[in-house]
Amino acid sequence: MPSGRTHDRITLWTLPVVAGTSHIITGNSHFTLLIAGSFLFSGLMFGPDLDIYSLQFLRWGWLRYLWLPYQKSIRHRSLFSHGPIIGTALRVLYLATWIGMLAFLTLVAHRLIAGGSELSNLALNVALDMARSVKRSLLERYPEWLSLFIGMELGAMSHYLSDWLGSAYKRFAANKQTSNKERTSASKRTAKERQGKSQKSKVKSQK
Ligand SMILES: [Zn+2]
Repeated sequence: MPSGRTHDRITLWTLPVVAGTSHIITGNSHFTLLIAGSFLFSGLMFGPDLDIYSLQFLRWGWLRYLWLPYQKSIRHRSLFSHGPIIGTALRVLYLATWIGMLAFLTLVAHRLIAGGSELSNLALNVALDMARSVKRSLLERYPEWLSLFIGMELGAMSHYLSDWLGSAYKRFAANKQTSNKERTSASKRTAKERQGKSQKSKVKSQK
């Protein structure tokens, strides 16, 4: 499969194509920016190779530790990281869970300091408020969320397509090599056989 640098190059080369096509389809620079931006984000640091110690993983800096449980629970190049749509959907859910948890703790702490009510009530209120705002945002801004998801999926797609092409090429090259070896050993064998036969016929004619 291609190295991280090759994946980067593929992402950067295909970026103008993705941006151009999105602009033609949507006819809108706002959505084009969302799709191209999330394509770049996905190709450089939110792609399928977050399931191993990779360039994408390292680009998260200190935040990369957030991805350790993900790496521990998903086998490299499995369907859950490299599968079409499911890979991106799982990563989005995974990151959203972390962001949700951090936002929840921050909001609870903030309201506690501000002198709120009992902790259990406060936590419940914060959770309900957060759920309401997520729902509202998803309903009101679904074209934006969809554009972001499409961009991220396209970024991941360029990754697993090149992974797949890389593996297919390797398999093809390996098959070619073995068939070449087989052919040379077979031709050596027939040459030996021919030599043996001619020696036998020589012995016969001498008799
Ligand atoms: Zn990969």
